[in-house]
Amino acid sequence: MTAGALDVEVAVVGAGVVGLAIAQRLAREGRTVAVIERHEGMARESSSHNSGVVHAAIYYERGSLKHRLCWEGNARTYEWCEAHGVAVRRTGKLIVALAEEERGGLDALYRQAAANAVRGLQRLTAAEARAFEPHVPAVEAIWSPSTGVVDAFALARSYEAEARAHGALIVYRHELAGAERVAGGFALSLRDGGGARPGLRCAALVNSAGLRAPEVAALLGYPLDGGAYADVAVPVLRQAVNRGRYYDIVDAAAARLVSRPVYPLPEHRAGGLGLHLTVDTDGGAHLGPSAEWLDDGALLDYRHPDDGWRAEFLRCGRRLLPALRDDQIAPGQVGYRPKLQRPGEEQADFLLWHDRGYVHLGGIESPGLTASLPLADEVAAVLR
Ligand SMILES: Cc1cc2nc3c(=O)[nH]c(=O)nc-3n(C[C@H](O)[C@H](O)[C@H](O)COP(=O)(O)OP(=O)(O)OC[C@H]3O[C@@H](n4cnc5c(N)ncnc54)[C@H](O)[C@@H]3O)c2cc1C
Repeated sequence: MTAGALDVEVAVVGAGVVGLAIAQRLAREGRTVAVIERHEGMARESSSHNSGVVHAAIYYERGSLKHRLCWEGNARTYEWCEAHGVAVRRTGKLIVALAEEERGGLDALYRQAAANAVRGLQRLTAAEARAFEPHVPAVEAIWSPSTGVVDAFALARSYEAEARAHGALIVYRHELAGAERVAGGFALSLRDGGGARPGLRCAALVNSAGLRAPEVAALLGYPLDGGAYADVAVPVLRQAVNRGRYYDIVDAAAARLVSRPVYPLPEHRAGGLGLHLTVDTDGGAHLGPSAEWLDDGALLDYRHPDDGWRAEFLRCGRRLLPALRDDQIAPGQVGYRPKLQRPGEEQADFLLWHDRGYVHLGGIESPGLTASLPLADEVAAVLR
């Protein structure tokens, strides 16, 4: 492959937390890396519109990528944050049964979490749970001490700084508009404010485009619904989108009623973990995220101007915090989950698929933030 001024060994599409984790990992190995990002800065999509929870690997099928990479990523996220000055709090988390009939669901979840070797897991009685969170009317709970919260944007920024320090080129305001295989790798065309132009040749192409990963795969001609392509078996790459809205607890006294994430039983088929209480690294408290399936091609609007969800958030919020008042919450952020699972199906695993120098990351929803460092290791191993 001919060398040009911008030629690199690896091009990574997407400067979210996962793309940047991959870039720093590959750059630290001494590879030449360029990250291509259509926005004016890093982490403008899922990576800055999430709960910021450092998950403990409770919910995922044993042995799945989500389980393995989240379990490993839990410990590594704390280590990384402490070494790089990223705000993180080891808050622990409660999953609560709020009624007698929910005890069975808690049993099943505990068995799943124990099979997943979640660190330090305990069952708590109502009295023990109330010692942690006096305002939450739990009848029983699971205590996960290794769960915490992280400043997700600061984590992305620390990956970006590490990538740059090891020579990676981060190209903002450029969208990948075309890609084709050429001898020795890929020829990419990028679109900036001036239009599309041939841009970059690379030996390997990592698709970490999050919600748009299928569109990037389609540029190379891959079918999105699975099937054969040039003698290669392609998995299903098409993603559904599931919206998660939040309400913020805007009253300082109400926000102090909770000290750590508190979750009800999960609702996997709805696409989420159940509308829960989260805290952030600055001491804020939030309700959410909701789980709403969107039609294919729906506009992904990051504003949350309408207050139409107030009644539902208040209802769910009051199950967890009965003292919560209507005037203490206000619409917060909104995020979008890229899902390989279709509405009504059980949760799907992350997809890490590769074909002759092309690496596809699909369905990188939660716990993608927590799993970002081990995901980067997996990509580095595939490219070796
Ligand atoms: C509501 C919600 C709550 C969540 N809560 C948690 C949590 O508590 N804990 C946890 O571990 N995980 C959580 N997650 C998951 C986590 O946020 C994601 O897994 C993670 O941020 C994914 O990062 P990413 O880099 O893959 O994607 P993104 O952050 O979406 O980045 C993809 C980037 O690719 C860019 N891009 C796309 N197409 C192109 C193109 N053609 N050219 C150039 N650039 C392109 C986009 O602009 C974008 O910046 C949550 C997610 C959501 C939506």
